[in-house]
Amino acid sequence: MKILLVFDFDNTIIDDNSDTWIVQCAPEKKLPIELQDSYKKGFWTEFMGRVFKYLGDEGVREDEMKRAMISMPFTPGMVELLNFIKKNKNKFDCIIISDSNSVFIDWVLEATNFHDVFDKVFTNPAAFDSNGHLTVEKHHTHSCTRCPQNLCKNVVLVEFVGEQLQQGVNYTRIVYIGDGGNDVCPVTFLKKDDIAMPRKGYALHKTLYRMCQNLEPMESSVVSWSSGVEIISYLQFLIKE
Ligand SMILES: [Mg+2]
Ligand SMILES: [Zn+2]
Repeated sequence: MKILLVFDFDNTIIDDNSDTWIVQCAPEKKLPIELQDSYKKGFWTEFMGRVFKYLGDEGVREDEMKRAMISMPFTPGMVELLNFIKKNKNKFDCIIISDSNSVFIDWVLEATNFHDVFDKVFTNPAAFDSNGHLTVEKHHTHSCTRCPQNLCKNVVLVEFVGEQLQQGVNYTRIVYIGDGGNDVCPVTFLKKDDIAMPRKGYALHKTLYRMCQNLEPMESSVVSWSSGVEIISYLQFLIKE
């Protein structure tokens, strides 16, 4: 039986946010004020759709965006961690659940040769249209009131684990590695043997800390990290058990 590793992408695998990083392709590396102000809470995907349209209208081409994207730094220790998982793929299944988009994540995984580490990537589907504009759609629709309307990572995770079970794949535990506010929902649904691994000092870590202080019940263990190398040590401990 394998362990399921669930990764967030922005500020977890890579050490920045891909959606804000891409703005460096814009003229003067910034967005017009009207565009910046057009973001409405919970509607990030729509906002990014407008950003990509703007970049396209400004003549920013696919190869330029790709060059910017693959120059994003990895989070400390992540390259080591992904190589460790690659070497121990018989012990782990590994998925990404991200609110970025399929084009950005593909570029990064392809450029770094980490595609085969991941069994599946769940994110907002994106593609370049005939005008050379990057277009992005929401990942799914759901009825979770805690999450942005385009993505509830818990719904994705529960569906994936259910489908795997139907295929006869049962995981001993789930290890969830993330940093952000939209990782809170899936993490609070983890079970007793599962492990939440929030990045130290980021939103998920702060929220879990606050929940713990308020004595809000949570079944899973919580192990925070600053470098992927710490995650390797923890996974080594888990597979030796
Ligand atoms: Mg993140
Ligand atoms: Zn949710």
